[in-house]
Amino acid sequence: MAAMSLISLFVTLLFSAAKAAQSPSVIVVGAGMSGISAAKTLYEAGIKDILILEASSRIGGRMLKADFSGYTVEMGANWYNSGGPVANPLVDLAKKVNLKSYINDYSNIAENTYKQEGGLYPKKDVEKVDEVATARDEYCSNFSKMLSRNKKKDVDVSILASQRLYGRPPLTPLEMVIDFYHNDYEDAEPPKVTSLKHTYPRAQFEEHGEYPHFVMDPRGFEVLVQYLASQILKKGSPVQLKLKKVAREIAYSKSGVTIKTEDGSTYSANYVIVSASVGVLQSDLIQFKPTLPVDTNLFQSFPFAELHFGCGEHNSNKFLGYVDGAYLEGIATANDLIKCIKGKGCKGDKNMEV
Ligand SMILES: Cc1cc2nc3c(=O)[nH]c(=O)nc-3n(C[C@H](O)[C@H](O)[C@H](O)COP(=O)(O)OP(=O)(O)OC[C@H]3O[C@@H](n4cnc5c(N)ncnc54)[C@H](O)[C@@H]3O)c2cc1C
Repeated sequence: MAAMSLISLFVTLLFSAAKAAQSPSVIVVGAGMSGISAAKTLYEAGIKDILILEASSRIGGRMLKADFSGYTVEMGANWYNSGGPVANPLVDLAKKVNLKSYINDYSNIAENTYKQEGGLYPKKDVEKVDEVATARDEYCSNFSKMLSRNKKKDVDVSILASQRLYGRPPLTPLEMVIDFYHNDYEDAEPPKVTSLKHTYPRAQFEEHGEYPHFVMDPRGFEVLVQYLASQILKKGSPVQLKLKKVAREIAYSKSGVTIKTEDGSTYSANYVIVSASVGVLQSDLIQFKPTLPVDTNLFQSFPFAELHFGCGEHNSNKFLGYVDGAYLEGIATANDLIKCIKGKGCKGDKNMEV
């Protein structure tokens, strides 16, 4: 099963100057999967005057490995999915770098489900509860689809409310532990506080597939980001990466953007893509000048500013909280900027919330 993830994994803010220079310059804040995939997309479109500012001393963001007694342990993302009707782009990337992984699902869940007083639950009991949980998930998916059909009213409920409507909410310790694998583990939040409409149906599995690849590569899952970065940071490339540069202030106006970093440096460009997480944005680590407009009307009165926001990997309604979401949203955001630079419209994202 693909891993749990923090919901708020990708927020992109993108400010554009009204009139780009002939060869526009772009600063990308953050060198995680989304920032690097955005930079690579710009580069391939001929926008090569790119500076990537990364707060930490490495690239990869939440794709991060650690050494544990001589073994590589993933501290962040660990799984990616395959086998669905929509190709997961990570599968291709994984092939290119020969990433080692194995299929790791819930088929042996009964071997890992212990009673509080000790000892395993009987296999048949675990399987029965898992069957109910799977049927309940299907109900949640259908109920969510039904709610989404009402375009006039944005009605939503929690996953738990939907489970109660199904009539079989998890109640016993065994039911709750199985529910943890089905929901809390994926969303990194309990079902009672998790939006049904934003999680069900789970596109990660419905579209990218039910085969969960558990990465077991000594280079770590982060090797995918390193591979993408190597294509734009190669010798002779104008793209620059500066590590240990914590962006603290982003001032934007019609004439461009200026970023101040924690160490007192200042960088200017025509455009900036900010790929920091919602958590970082909510922490107020970065001061925006002027402060961010947080409603659509305000956005419309800022013709020079294109903003992308969400309660998660906003644009990735489907794959929020996953590496594939970060990868795809980096590309989508870069494509929006390319369109904007070419004067084909800076439409921005209407779902602006921080
Ligand atoms: C414990 C855990 C388990 C997970 N498991 C999975 C999994 O199994 N499968 C899966 O697909 N996904 C998983 N995820 C989610 C996945 O890791 C993320 O969705 C993805 O890596 C996010 O990439 P990103 O580029 O959007 O953000 P990030 O990886 O957070 O990259 C943002 C970058 O911006 C930098 N930054 C932040 N603020 C500043 C600043 N002010 N100045 C400069 N730089 C800044 C950060 O240092 C970081 O490098 C997991 C996440 C966690 C935490």
